[in-house]
Amino acid sequence: MRTTVGIIGAGPAGLLLARLLHNAGIDSVVLESRDRAYVEQRQRAGILEQGTVDVLRAAGAGERMDREGLRHDGIELRYDRKRHRVDFPALTGGKAVTVYAQTEVCKDLIALQLAEGGPLLFEAEALAVEDAATGHPRVRFRHQGAEDVLECDYVVGCDGFWGVARTAVPAGLSRTFERTYPFGWLGILADVPPSHDELVYARHDRGFALLSMRSPSVSRLYLQVPDGTKAEEWSDEEIWDELERRFETADDWTLQRGPITQKSVTPMRSFVHEPMRHGRLFLAGDAAHIVPPTGAKGLNLAVGDVVTFARALVHQRETGSAELLDAYSATCLRRVWQAERFSYDMTTLLHRAPGATAFDARLQLARLERIASSRAAETDLAEAYTGFPLE
Ligand SMILES: Cc1cc2nc3c(=O)[nH]c(=O)nc-3n(C[C@H](O)[C@H](O)[C@H](O)COP(=O)(O)OP(=O)(O)OC[C@H]3O[C@@H](n4cnc5c(N)ncnc54)[C@H](O)[C@@H]3O)c2cc1C
Repeated sequence: MRTTVGIIGAGPAGLLLARLLHNAGIDSVVLESRDRAYVEQRQRAGILEQGTVDVLRAAGAGERMDREGLRHDGIELRYDRKRHRVDFPALTGGKAVTVYAQTEVCKDLIALQLAEGGPLLFEAEALAVEDAATGHPRVRFRHQGAEDVLECDYVVGCDGFWGVARTAVPAGLSRTFERTYPFGWLGILADVPPSHDELVYARHDRGFALLSMRSPSVSRLYLQVPDGTKAEEWSDEEIWDELERRFETADDWTLQRGPITQKSVTPMRSFVHEPMRHGRLFLAGDAAHIVPPTGAKGLNLAVGDVVTFARALVHQRETGSAELLDAYSATCLRRVWQAERFSYDMTTLLHRAPGATAFDARLQLARLERIASSRAAETDLAEAYTGFPLE
């Protein structure tokens, strides 16, 4: 097999890249190790920045998102039984975010790719990227029990944190920056209308909690839990009791309970691999960087990377200049590090670290009070949450 761009992974990064290239008249092949149902059901992110929404729309993938996505003009910070709303449009000159689940973004992009785009092979596992430093990189992969080779002009590794693409960068050229947090998130899906119409980020002495939603009838909620916790260790009733405690307010707000349909634990990690390019291999999305989900940045960063790559390749085709491809890693990393910084700030602002002292707790409350009382501090949060512009 031969193609211009070999894409490893059909998560949001790989699927959107295939769509952007198709729209620009550039052929690609997507290799995905899992089956279609698995990719479409995998519960993950749900907050789309304004820039991500604009990109999906412009790519012709926004029709259902515009119908079913929920525009959110703010979030609520909850601490010390107080409630503070951050008003995004007022602070950012009109920006907002959209609640539309990653599963739905993937379903829309898969349907478009299968109807109009190039090959998208499920259950096709990339085994290695070879000759990335030369003009003729190859992906060795296994599909339907047989090994095959995909010859490419460029390979884009969109294969997530556990993928194979990153390992093709020689160890001597790689630098990784990492922090793991000593807690995780127990996330649930529940068949009950959300108890608030915007996301609620709660800082509590017992730990962090987040109220989010997938639709007007499905709630998505999270609890900070100790590292190593298994979802089965928590009964449904214990989860609701703990959520109720952490969301407590001084007014008459109440948490609606409902049947829990899914629960799982997500570890929390910050990770960056530099550079994001080696020869004709480019890394995008979780393959190159991970953020803790507190800032809702993972999916949005993946979108930024593939937009940057697609623009650079189109530029090279139209002008013959590789200048944007050469700048790919540095361009993406500027945005990545801002998202790393914001995700870290939000995580340390709202979570209770094991061994945290009363002093640490007071500092968190002082930081929250600062956001609630200073327009400059609040604007900083709103700008980062709604998204840094794509260069
Ligand atoms: C459990 C979990 C929960 C999350 N929750 C949130 C959240 O609440 N909010 C938020 O903002 N972000 C969240 N994230 C982060 C967000 O979902 C990711 O940043 C986003 O999925 C990145 O997209 P991606 O396409 O780069 O990678 P992925 O979505 O990981 O896609 C990579 C794809 O590559 C495939 N693949 C892997 N190896 C190979 C191979 N060798 N050959 C072929 N295919 C391969 C995988 O099967 C997968 O389909 C979460 C992540 C995880 C893991």
